[in-house]
Amino acid sequence: MEGHKKDGSYAYIRQQIYIVQTPDGKAHYEWSGIPYDATINPEEIAIQDELKRRVSIKDLKIGSNYSNNDICNAFLCSPQGGMRRSHKTNTLVLVANHVKSIFDDRWDGDIMYYTGMGLRDDQSLNFMQNKTLYVRGSGRTTGVDVHFFEVFDEAVYTYQGQVELVDDPIQEIQDDVDGNSRKVWLFPLMRKDRSTPVIPKKEIDKIFDKKVKKASKLSLEELKKRASNSSSKPGKRAATTTSYQRSPVVKAYVLKRANGVCELCEQPAPFNKKNGEPYLEVHHVKQLADGGDDTIENAVALCPNCHRRMHSLGLESDINKLTSTSKMTLL
Ligand SMILES: [Zn+2]
Ligand SMILES: [Zn+2]
Repeated sequence: MEGHKKDGSYAYIRQQIYIVQTPDGKAHYEWSGIPYDATINPEEIAIQDELKRRVSIKDLKIGSNYSNNDICNAFLCSPQGGMRRSHKTNTLVLVANHVKSIFDDRWDGDIMYYTGMGLRDDQSLNFMQNKTLYVRGSGRTTGVDVHFFEVFDEAVYTYQGQVELVDDPIQEIQDDVDGNSRKVWLFPLMRKDRSTPVIPKKEIDKIFDKKVKKASKLSLEELKKRASNSSSKPGKRAATTTSYQRSPVVKAYVLKRANGVCELCEQPAPFNKKNGEPYLEVHHVKQLADGGDDTIENAVALCPNCHRRMHSLGLESDINKLTSTSKMTLL
């Protein structure tokens, strides 16, 4: 905060509130160029205004998205790191960043296996916030409220509620920041109210695809080693999907129209179903998820090859061919 400026005009106070000095030597407050009631302390108003915009811990809603700034303001914690201790609010904020983090934080049913702190070498339970979450020999709880966020999209933090440690930490092998194998600690956490976290299936698929892409950079030998080390029982996570109530009439019509021949490659279906009908799949040229209609003009019958081709490549030339084929049936 600065005082008055001798040469007149104004001096910055806080948040666009200025003291404006007029030529007759008197001063008044202005907020964004508008004269302000000087009987009210503008600094106080600016602070109140800022506080009003802030998210507080009790306002956080499970499943809602927040910015990193919201988190820092609510918890008064550091803007960085996966485990953020705030002494001011006696909280520990945990962030599972599925976009950026090298850690393999994952849910199995209601339990989140959260990777501890330490980017290089074997992790230690005595290191930094690992010992806030788990104090050896003194039970599992350390008297600090633990709040959990997940990041599925860059800079978007989804609140997953208050969590607590429900079992002793376990060790597993994960890559460190340089790509070398090392031992990490996983902290089994559950929501305090024991509710099940649910996220959209497409987010889970996105995380999985990212991990596959990352893993594919390893050698065949290294992948074989890791595949034999990893658990053969897959983890489970509740997910939501959107399912469309499609018209059975449209599907029946399109299959009849195709008459056993793929409408893209114009080859007969690759095999017959057990009941003898040719196997073709109905595809929406403009996908339902993108607002496409479930109509006979927008639906085509494809062989499994061409169907995957459409979803994988989505070439304009293919789209044009299918659109003109399906439109012909309107004539
Ligand atoms: Zn085909
Ligand atoms: Zn399709």
